[in-house]
Amino acid sequence: MKFETLAIHAGAEVDPATGAVTPPIHLSTTFERAPDGSYPHGYVYTRSGNPNRAALERLLTVLEGGAAAAAFASGSAAAGAILRSLHPGDHVIAPDDMYHGIQKLLKQVLIPWGLAVNFVDLADLAAFEAALRETTRLVWLETPSNPLLKITDIAAVTALAHQAGARVVCDNTWTPPPLQPVFRYGADLVLHATTKYLAGHSDVLGGVVVAREDDTFFERIRAIQHHEGAVPSPFDCWLALRGIKTLPYRLRGHSENAAKVAASLAAHPRVKAVHYPGLASHPGHEIARRQMSQFGGMLSCQVHGGEAAAMAVAAKVRLFTRATSLGGVESLIEHRASIEGPESRTPRDLLRLSVGLEHPDDLIADLAQALG
Ligand SMILES: *Cc1c(COP(=O)(O)O)cnc(C)c1O
Repeated sequence: MKFETLAIHAGAEVDPATGAVTPPIHLSTTFERAPDGSYPHGYVYTRSGNPNRAALERLLTVLEGGAAAAAFASGSAAAGAILRSLHPGDHVIAPDDMYHGIQKLLKQVLIPWGLAVNFVDLADLAAFEAALRETTRLVWLETPSNPLLKITDIAAVTALAHQAGARVVCDNTWTPPPLQPVFRYGADLVLHATTKYLAGHSDVLGGVVVAREDDTFFERIRAIQHHEGAVPSPFDCWLALRGIKTLPYRLRGHSENAAKVAASLAAHPRVKAVHYPGLASHPGHEIARRQMSQFGGMLSCQVHGGEAAAMAVAAKVRLFTRATSLGGVESLIEHRASIEGPESRTPRDLLRLSVGLEHPDDLIADLAQALG
């Protein structure tokens, strides 16, 4: 079946007990055993398994074309479970431009725990190859990168990583299915913050790991999910499932709007640079065209006049909301360096935009009045 159909039907069936078309929310923490001690419905205790979470995991497995999925209470908890499925002493290669929360998770928690990590420009294949070591066990990809939208050639990096004996995980939070089917390019794991496009309405925190193969490495991720219990609540799973039903249509709108906003910013005299892989001028455009079916709703731009000018634009918008996060129906704008903190390498004149589903003409007009 096609993606639009799967998004609506792969995680849901009419409730056999009541005929309810929308699934019930199963709040029970515990499930009854049969007289012989077995669990006839397959559920024991909600930390290890819950019907709403199982439905979400099933749906995301189908949508990514993987073998299994594990849902977590946040994208960061999902990332932590992947990284701690490695062993102290293992080497990880991560992008030099990546979601700052996971960069901080690596620097403040996982490097002290024992991982060795190199942050490398993964738009540069030679730099990646030079960073590989005998102990490299995991390559972390985020393409387009955050917030500079650099593009990594997933198939090329994955081929080299596999030769070196390393797994590849793609943080696909900015590129939910069907935008970038990374298992087709050989990647081993996909991470999503369901917080963003999947749930899509800025009202749920969640994460998921999808595995191409249900192997021993994924068993370790499952064990962390089960034993540490950073699992999403049944209601959060229900909200994520509801959001995903409209995902394909939302992604089309986000991508179309972002392309129009990017083109208008690129033509504005007060804008120094626009970072959007859909623009033919983007250095990663050709690779992006090969591995992405749409270019997504995220972009960033740099304005003339430095940090003060960027802050002034963010101060003047009326329709865009000044807030962090992304992937909701409403458009957001953010001065990224100041949220990333003092050690941020993000240019001080950069604004990151999550382009929402308002009419693009209204968004373009708002940015034009804010730029002056
Ligand atoms: C938001 C985000 C995360 C982390 O998700 P949380 O649910 O906030 O923990 C990870 N990666 C990317 C690219 C994100 O945008």
